[in-house]
Amino acid sequence: MSERSVTYCKRLTVKKEYDVIVCGGGVAGVAAAVSAAKNGCSTLLLEKSNILGGLGTLGLINLFVPMCNGRGKQIIFGLAEKWLRLSAELGFDTIPEDWKEGEPGKYTEQRYVQRYSPAIFAYQLTEEIVKCGADILFDCMAADPVMEGELCRGVITESKAGTEFYGCRMLIDTTGDCDVLRRGGIPTVTGENFFTFSAKMVTLDGCRRALEKNDIQHIYSGISGGGINLFGDGQPVDMPRWSGLSAEEVTDYIITNHLLILKQLKETNRKTREVVTTPGMPQFRTTAHLKADYSLKVADAYRHFDDSVCAINDFEHRDHLFEVPLRCLTRADYPNIITAGRSADGTGYGWDLLRVIPPAILTGQAAGEAASLALRTKRTVAAVDIRILQNNLEKENVMVHFPDEYVPEDKTVVIHGRNAAEIEGGHL
Ligand SMILES: Cc1cc2nc3c(=O)[nH]c(=O)nc-3n(C[C@H](O)[C@H](O)[C@H](O)COP(=O)(O)OP(=O)(O)OC[C@H]3O[C@@H](n4cnc5c(N)ncnc54)[C@H](O)[C@@H]3O)c2cc1C
Repeated sequence: MSERSVTYCKRLTVKKEYDVIVCGGGVAGVAAAVSAAKNGCSTLLLEKSNILGGLGTLGLINLFVPMCNGRGKQIIFGLAEKWLRLSAELGFDTIPEDWKEGEPGKYTEQRYVQRYSPAIFAYQLTEEIVKCGADILFDCMAADPVMEGELCRGVITESKAGTEFYGCRMLIDTTGDCDVLRRGGIPTVTGENFFTFSAKMVTLDGCRRALEKNDIQHIYSGISGGGINLFGDGQPVDMPRWSGLSAEEVTDYIITNHLLILKQLKETNRKTREVVTTPGMPQFRTTAHLKADYSLKVADAYRHFDDSVCAINDFEHRDHLFEVPLRCLTRADYPNIITAGRSADGTGYGWDLLRVIPPAILTGQAAGEAASLALRTKRTVAAVDIRILQNNLEKENVMVHFPDEYVPEDKTVVIHGRNAAEIEGGHL
C-alpha cells in the first residue's frame, strides 16, 4: 500500500489579540471567562457548539451533585453556589427542603443538590458572559494553539469564516478533553469511558404526573442506550471502552446508542411518548486530562495543600473532603497555559471527584483568577503568589481549605465499597 501525504499550511494575520482566551464554553470555561473578565482581562471564549454549559446543558447532565459533606455542612461555594441558586430561579427548583434557605444550621443527611432545566441554565450562562464583558464566539472551534517553544502565542480557530488566528497572553483549555493543549504537544493522560447515553423524553404518564403536582419538571423521564454508571458496574464484556478521542470512536458510540434507543422505541406505543432532546455531545466522562504538576488521588482525602484553590467534597460518599492544589491545573514548564474542569489532573476516582459540575465550576473560577493574577503580576501562571490567589478566591466566596472540625474521627476512606488504602494508585 502506498503512503500518501499532503502539505497544508497558510499564513494567517492576527484577527484580534486578547489577554486571555478560554477554549470551550462548558461550565468550567464559562466560570474561567467570567472570572478573567471580572478581573479586567480582555477575554475571548470560544465554543464550538451553539450553547454554553457543555455536558451540563448540551449533554443533558442537569444535576449539581452534592456540594456538602452529607452532615449538613456546605463545602462548595463560590460560583458553583451562585449558579446552583441561579439555575433554581427560573428553571426547576429541586433544592432539598433543608437547604432551601442556605446551609441548614443543623445536622442533616439530606445532601445539597439541584436538578435544573438544561436549556434555561444555558441561557443564563449566556447572560453571565454578556454581563461580565467577555467576548464570545459560538460555532467556533479552537483548533491548534500556536506555540513558540513552551510559550503559547494564541489559537487557530475554525469557523464559517475559515481558518483564523487569535493572539493571547494566557490560554485556558476547558474543552473537557484537553484538546487544544493535547494538539499543542503538551503532555496529557487519556482515559476510558463506559457505555452511557441518555436522552430526555416526555410521556403521557409524565404529563399526568406534572398536572397532578402542578409542576412542569415532572413531565421528563429518561431513555438510555447504554446506562453504565461511573464505576462501570454492568459494562457489557464485549463492549469497547471508548477513549472518545477520534471521530471513528465517537461515531461508533453514537450509532450503537441511537440504534439501541430506536429498538426500545419500536417496542412502545408512539402515541404515548416523545423523545424531546437527545444529547448534543457524547456523554463521555473521562477522555483526557492535562498531565499537570500534581494529580489528585483518593489518598489525598483530608489532606491540606498549601496551594489549594478550593475545597471539594466527595459527591458519592459522605464525609470525604479534598483540596485541589493549583498544580492540578498547571505545569511549571509551560508559562501561560492552564486547564480546568474535566481536564484537571486526577488519578482514578480522584479524576471523578474533580470533573463533576460543582468542582468543574470552581477550578474554572480558579483558572480565570490565576490567569489574570499572573498577567497583572508578570509571573507564570504556575508561579503566581498563592496567598494573593487564595485571598482573591475567598473574596469570591470560595472555601479554599476545609475546616478541620469537619474531618471525622475515623478517616478510613471507602469508595464504592472498596477500602481506598487497597486501591492501587487510586484506581478502582
Ligand atoms: C454520563 C455522565 C453523567 C454525569 N453525571 C453528572 C451529574 O449527575 N452531576 C454532575 O455534577 N456531573 C455529572 N457528570 C460530569 C459533568 O457533567 C462534567 O464533567 C462537567 O459538566 C464538565 O464540565 P467541563 O466544562 O469541564 O467540560 P464539558 O462539559 O465537556 O465542556 C466542554 C465544552 O467545550 C466545548 N469544546 C470542546 N472542544 C472544543 C474546541 N476545540 N473548541 C471550542 N469548544 C470546544 C464543548 O462543546 C463544551 O461546550 C456526568 C458526566 C457524564 C458523562
